[in-house]
Amino acid sequence: MRKLFKLGAVALAVLALMVAAVGCGGEKAADKQGEGGEEAKQKLVAAFEPTFAPFESTDENGEFVGFDIDLIKAIAEEQGFEVELKSLSFDGLIPALQTGQIDVIVSGMSIKPKREEQVNFSIPYYEAPLVIAVREDNNEITKPEDLAGKRIAVQIGTTGADKANEFKEKYGAEVKTYNTVDLVFNELINGGVDAVINDEPVTEEFIEKKGQGKVKIVGDTLVGDYYGIAVAKENTELLESINEGLKKLKENGKFNQLYEKWFHTSAPDYLPGERS
Ligand code: GLN
Repeated sequence: MRKLFKLGAVALAVLALMVAAVGCGGEKAADKQGEGGEEAKQKLVAAFEPTFAPFESTDENGEFVGFDIDLIKAIAEEQGFEVELKSLSFDGLIPALQTGQIDVIVSGMSIKPKREEQVNFSIPYYEAPLVIAVREDNNEITKPEDLAGKRIAVQIGTTGADKANEFKEKYGAEVKTYNTVDLVFNELINGGVDAVINDEPVTEEFIEKKGQGKVKIVGDTLVGDYYGIAVAKENTELLESINEGLKKLKENGKFNQLYEKWFHTSAPDYLPGERS
């Protein structure tokens, strides 16, 4: 009887091990190998919210394009990964990373203490402040205090939304959240809101491409943020590889090439925060 019990226990243990092994194989998107056997590169699922030009947007052929898209492709090439691009809602990015559905977030995402509790960030690769934008004919709003009693549109889950909520507390503004930056600006142009709070480079790009004579930036820039590539907490090896890739691209000039391609100005000598 005891022996039988023992045998059963061993069989159970073996079974548990087998299940665990199979489970592991499918757990992380980064572990999935291509079909090509040994030669296949490790696949990196890179996700972003694609209404954030010039960092990520969709071109007329439905292709994802932008600085972040080129950057993650270049890092992957440098470090021997194959990239799969994935579009998600901005507020769905961190949960997707935490549940292993994606491997990295490259989405103009600001490095913030609250996010650092949930994910790890690469070394910063871009610095951008927030700005207030209003309709071209609005001369009432020129500084944060003027937002008292006004309606502000922001993209859900962003630093712009945090800032707008701060102004709501301080000055009694009303905050309306939208899923995409396109919707945020449409609402401003259509008169559904009085102001937008969003990252400066993206607001400038919107005005240049779609908002000329309709939207303008007012007042001083608000808090500056660093953008980082986010990786799951436990994925420390991948984080190191991404940092290594970023540094290599900075050194070999490819980072600067991409920077000039998308921002039409030369890149700073150092990656932000790298100088110290
Ligand atoms: N940089 C802002 C943030 O991290 C906005 C990013 C975005 O909308 N893609 O919240």
